[in-house]
Amino acid sequence: MIVMKFGGTSVENSEAIERVADIVRSRLEQRPVVVVSALAGVTDSLVTVSQLAASGALAEGLRLHRQMRQRHFGVLASLLNGRGETEVRSRLQALFDALEDVLRGVAALGELSPRTSDNVLSFGEMLSSHVVHTTFRARGMDAVLVDSRQVLVTDGAHTRAVPQVEETNRRLRQSLKPLLNAGRVPVMGGFIAATSEGTPTTLGRGGSDFSAALVGAGLGARKIEIWTDVEGMMTTDPRLCPDARRIDTIGFDEASELAYFGAKVLHPATLIPAVEKNIPLYILNSRNPDSKGTCIRAHARPSKTILRSIAAKRGVKVINVRLPRIFAAQGFLHALFEAFDRHACPVDLVSTSEVSVSVAVDASRDLAGLVQDLKRLGNVEVEDKKAILCLVGEKLRGRIGVAARVFGVLASAGINVHMISQGASEINISFVIEERDIPEAVKQLHSLFFAERAGDPRWIARRGPRAKALPADGSSARASRAGL
Ligand code: ADP
Ligand code: ASP
Ligand code: MG
Repeated sequence: MIVMKFGGTSVENSEAIERVADIVRSRLEQRPVVVVSALAGVTDSLVTVSQLAASGALAEGLRLHRQMRQRHFGVLASLLNGRGETEVRSRLQALFDALEDVLRGVAALGELSPRTSDNVLSFGEMLSSHVVHTTFRARGMDAVLVDSRQVLVTDGAHTRAVPQVEETNRRLRQSLKPLLNAGRVPVMGGFIAATSEGTPTTLGRGGSDFSAALVGAGLGARKIEIWTDVEGMMTTDPRLCPDARRIDTIGFDEASELAYFGAKVLHPATLIPAVEKNIPLYILNSRNPDSKGTCIRAHARPSKTILRSIAAKRGVKVINVRLPRIFAAQGFLHALFEAFDRHACPVDLVSTSEVSVSVAVDASRDLAGLVQDLKRLGNVEVEDKKAILCLVGEKLRGRIGVAARVFGVLASAGINVHMISQGASEINISFVIEERDIPEAVKQLHSLFFAERAGDPRWIARRGPRAKALPADGSSARASRAGL
């Protein structure tokens, strides 16, 4: 069997959903499970309506709610043309009524808890999976709607829930295997799950990719297809650099680094289940289904260029902790990381000196409690509107001179680098810059590494003594001191 996941733009309107039906039909003999995202923009709208309701602007929220309803009904009407429309219309209407009730509750309380936020966001994928399922049936496919909240089980960490894999796999096998064996096509909403008590949870924004990988790993899929709006994984985000090129094949380790450091085309956790079960993953373009896309697998052919790709992660904060000189530094790092651990705050990059530490973290985390704790260790300063740029390539192993070229190019463009990390995984160089510098930095570095000359093996020395020996313990969060 295979898993086919369609992202928001792949189900954004009736034409897109028609294309999805055609693509799935062309793979019926491979026994697909179909995972769909909410219609493009719907999750963002749900975030907005819930915030409006919580902040006393319920009427405005309900206006947006009506627009969402009209959009879904409009898509449905043009897909079904009256065939079997009444039944699904009443199901969608029930979902919109339930959503309205939740919003009224939020408005009455004047508060939006993470748990309620997950409840609101779960409507996006419930609606889209209904629409796609009905379309498939109207096109003669034996599709079955599977409620993801009944099969994907997570902990209660709302907005970023963590799957409980064993129970999920048990339920996946129990509910989906018989459907596949009977030649039926299960359709599920991505991104949404539930705790073992049945409370709706979500896997974090962009999490439908992760849902697809969990389903694929749980059922032992032959491959997982991620259908989206670009030709595959590219040498950088094509929105940042129109010269970006499709990557034919890429290794799990390289793709994981890219996803973690901002390549939005894949949710960062997607590859964890795929790597564990060694399932190849394909990124494909639903607007151009015949193009080859990108294959992500355990071992990929070496790239011609030194880098495989460049990723940019926006929304980063840098926390600087400076130890007062009178204190001994011993135990400082231990206490510091213990605080990050206590507040369940993942660390993206670290840079240390004798008396200070800079830590780059995701700005969407609530840092108030953490900062309070860190203040017990030293002076704390938080810098906002930063970004991490991450250069990834297997060929970076043992190369000398790459960093010099990178920072030379950035310096010439007047781009200031705040922190740098090289060597942790040997296949990436990451550094922190101002968010506003991303477009220029990506443009400059893409042209440095992916122009014609970048394929020339003499461009940078092949092997040599490491200019600076950094311990390689495999952790991705470690760095040399900035100062470049
Ligand atoms: P979907 O809704 O299908 O999940 P996303 O918007 O989440 O789609 O991801 C696709 C987007 O990822 C592309 O439109 C592109 O702008 C962005 N992207 C970022 N980095 C890359 C990359 N290296 N290769 C391809 N796309 C990328
Ligand atoms: N609809 C969700 C989001 O926009 C999940 C996804 O699209 O993967 O974040
Ligand atoms: Mg996505």
